[in-house]
Amino acid sequence: MTPTEKRSEHLTHGYNRMVERVRSAFEHGTAASLLHAIQLCKDKAFELQELSKEEAERIGDFLHRDVQDAAEYLANSGGDLADWMRFDLELIEERLAESFFIVADRTCIELSQLAEEAQHVGEYLTGDVVGPGSLQCSACDHWVRFQETSQLPVCPACGGGIFKRPPAEQDL
Ligand SMILES: [Zn+2]
Repeated sequence: MTPTEKRSEHLTHGYNRMVERVRSAFEHGTAASLLHAIQLCKDKAFELQELSKEEAERIGDFLHRDVQDAAEYLANSGGDLADWMRFDLELIEERLAESFFIVADRTCIELSQLAEEAQHVGEYLTGDVVGPGSLQCSACDHWVRFQETSQLPVCPACGGGIFKRPPAEQDL
């Protein structure tokens, strides 16, 4: 095996182990979300010296991208994992296919919950950290603007603590 092949195998094994551990984190209820599960598994791989910090980060990103994409496909297309992969699941190692499916399926449920929650997002509270942008006080419609990431103060006009981000087409 060439050093390049060895390196590639090292990373793919790391990915597969991460799929297994994310599955296990979901099944044991130790992770609240896909991102949380991946974070735990990155830490674990580093702790066990299977992966460097940088490798664990990269593999975590790769896995997140794949699972997220698969989960969105499952949620929106009505197709199954084989459709997403564009080939028969039998062509994949059984345990990996099963684990990947479980993780994607679980993330699919997470996505539909997020979609529901997204309806309620748009409420920002005093003390929240927000990125640059403009928010409007829910009580008195006073605008507060942030040019950098900031912690939300109380409304300077009325002392209110709830803000919203109205749709962009509204005049500022
Ligand atoms: Zn106000």
